[in-house]
Amino acid sequence: MKDKFISLIKTSKKISVITGAGISAESGVPTFRGENGLWRSYRPEDLATPEAFTRDPKLVWEWYNWRRELISNCTPNSAHLFISYLESLIPEFLLITQNVDGLHKRGGSRNIIEIHGSIWDIKCSKCLYLSENRDLPIIYPPLCPQCQNILRPGVVWFGESLDYRKLEESVNFIATSDLLIVIGTSGIVQPVASLPFQGKQINKKLKIIEINPTSTPITNISDLFIKEPSAKFLSDLKIFS
Ligand code: NAD
Ligand code: ZN
Repeated sequence: MKDKFISLIKTSKKISVITGAGISAESGVPTFRGENGLWRSYRPEDLATPEAFTRDPKLVWEWYNWRRELISNCTPNSAHLFISYLESLIPEFLLITQNVDGLHKRGGSRNIIEIHGSIWDIKCSKCLYLSENRDLPIIYPPLCPQCQNILRPGVVWFGESLDYRKLEESVNFIATSDLLIVIGTSGIVQPVASLPFQGKQINKKLKIIEINPTSTPITNISDLFIKEPSAKFLSDLKIFS
């Protein structure tokens, strides 16, 4: 397994990586659909929506304050570190993460698209104001310095569209890569879930490696499926040593 993984990497000049919540699980950040996914018995799908924020912004901010506090106590794991190490080895490299926790950047990744935004950003619910904010906690209600309307987390919620430029850049990079590595995503949150399929459709030579303890729709089109927790598999894995 490790041999095939290493050989696919060694024969690639251009690599894309897609990550989801699972890569941060071993850092202690709960996934949405795994154990500890619930907060005060609410499902994330019922809190991470524009409708939930309109209905009860205080409740949504309490949940985000809880998540920000939790994430601030977590550190990047071997899988985050492996990805930034890989970036330093490969001439053309792009990381597309669905995660909002900022652990990839803390782990040293630079060429990165945070396609669902960042939990460390806040933005206005009415105007275009957006700013980094690391306060713990955010005092309710946070108000926009430009228009005085309520500020919201700088993330993309269920039902909201992604920045199409980021999506287009991701598709183009993946479709011209030799290898795509998909780590820790359930492969059901669109449109990111479609990226591996689009990549393979455009470029038949694209190889796909998936790392996830559970199979997903992406497993069907993977050339190598590593059915393991990502930090465990990637710990101490040196490609060129
Ligand atoms: P998900 O919660 O739907 O699925 C998590 C996936 O990770 C599952 O397939 C699971 O089998 C896998 N997984 C669990 N433990 C793993 C491990 N140790 N190693 C590798 N894989 C493991 O997450 P999603 O597909 O990313 O979609 C949910 C949405 O919510 C995304 O936008 C996601 O980024 C966001 N979210 C982000 C965070 C974060 O920033 N850390 C946390 C929760 C949810
Ligand atoms: Zn505003």
